[in-house]
Amino acid sequence: MKIVNPWNGAILADVPADNARSVAAKYAKARAAQPRWSAVPVKKRLDAIVAFRALLASREDELAATLTQEVGKPIRQSRNELKGLAGRIDFFLAESARTLRDEKVFEDKGGRLEERISHEPLGVIANISAWNYPYFVGGNVFVPALVAGNAILYKPSEYATLTGLKIAEMLHASGVPGDVFIPLVGGGEIGAALLKQPIDGVFFTGSYPTGQKIAAAAGRKMIKVQLELGGKDPIYVCEDVDVQAAAAAVADGAFYNTGQSCCSVERIYVNRRIEKAFVDAFVAEVEGYRIGDPMDETTYIGAITRRPQIDVLRKQVADAKKKGAKVALGGKPLPGKGNRFEPTVLTGVNASMAVMRDESFGPIIGIEAVDNDADAVARMNDSEFGLTAGVYTTDAKRAKAILGKLEAGSVYWNCCDRVSPRLPWSGVKHSGIGLTLSTYGIQTFTRPKAWHLRGA
Ligand code: NAD
Repeated sequence: MKIVNPWNGAILADVPADNARSVAAKYAKARAAQPRWSAVPVKKRLDAIVAFRALLASREDELAATLTQEVGKPIRQSRNELKGLAGRIDFFLAESARTLRDEKVFEDKGGRLEERISHEPLGVIANISAWNYPYFVGGNVFVPALVAGNAILYKPSEYATLTGLKIAEMLHASGVPGDVFIPLVGGGEIGAALLKQPIDGVFFTGSYPTGQKIAAAAGRKMIKVQLELGGKDPIYVCEDVDVQAAAAAVADGAFYNTGQSCCSVERIYVNRRIEKAFVDAFVAEVEGYRIGDPMDETTYIGAITRRPQIDVLRKQVADAKKKGAKVALGGKPLPGKGNRFEPTVLTGVNASMAVMRDESFGPIIGIEAVDNDADAVARMNDSEFGLTAGVYTTDAKRAKAILGKLEAGSVYWNCCDRVSPRLPWSGVKHSGIGLTLSTYGIQTFTRPKAWHLRGA
């Protein structure tokens, strides 16, 4: 399988891909190894994660360069991702032992009946991952899943294969046995082959259409399934904000990672009273973003990782223009060999336009004026997705009233495009089922076993 740099089209590597037979063989290895791994005390499993964290830090420059070259993420943002993963690991290191400990939930007065819960690993699980934040979305799964005693068949995205192989190499060097964490190389067909194996659970991050296929396959098997899917995340900017500051923060939320985050701001609603001032400030902010070689330290906008996405963006702009939107900035692919698109701001948009309905997953955003809070909430909830949603206002009471009405897994006041390891990460509607992160995101890799113990 050829690995191509999306910024300049250069071939980075040619790696041997898996096939249906090698997938079956890897599954068999993981199945045989899992009981030994789950017998290793949690403390020792955590030691391996401590060593993995140290390797991430000591190899940061090399790992960031690989990530940037294969997905086109600006180099500073690659480093941020590695540092961010270290923070998430710290949370798992602090919370896992306590979360996985057996619980005594009842003891009768005479001490003859005891009821306990133990947290058993699921067994052999599939981790099918996305390319946009391979360390984050992978780490949300493989770190707690390993600590909980599972063996993992890890299918990184075909667009982040080199990073996936480095993750495997570092975990192995850290003490996770080679047959407990096994990477699979290839595209969707290898993910599909993996789902044919008698696995015990599948943890998927990716698009809604692929998520539907994963859910169908898991449904037939009746195994645990978690899907972290796309979003069309809205932000509402109230009339009481500092316009410059809100415009800068929301623009960063929309354009960071070149707009290719699951929780990128994808729709902006602004109170009509400040529409012009906000649009002016927003456009000025985005005009200042430096587009360039992602390896350059000063670059903020890098490559579109998947070439077909250029067409999606082009079509969204054309559709919006046809229906009356104005292009305030950008609007077309950039010249050059690789996959590049101008940072694009559309105004006068509405819900009939694809740019306000379908995930854009690129450096493009629509801004729509609204009359009041009720109008904003109705429009924000008018989506098939529900990953994140937020509001910018100086009024805490008003913010909380709005957040309470939003149909989303995560809600934000005066922030956006933010993930915390302490809070559950989940979506509603077509943004997914299940969750990662928080202590719930440790327990999710286990099954609670009920112990009824009656003494003699
Ligand atoms: P994708 O759905 O194209 O691919 C995801 C993974 O699924 C890849 O590893 C791919 O090889 C594999 N795959 C494809 N077809 C398959 C099949 N039939 N069976 C099994 N596996 C298959 O998504 P992507 O382009 O890698 O990622 C972008 C999407 O992921 C966006 O929609 C984004 O919003 C979403 N995402 C969500 C989160 C979240 O936390 N909710 C995080 C990151 C990305």
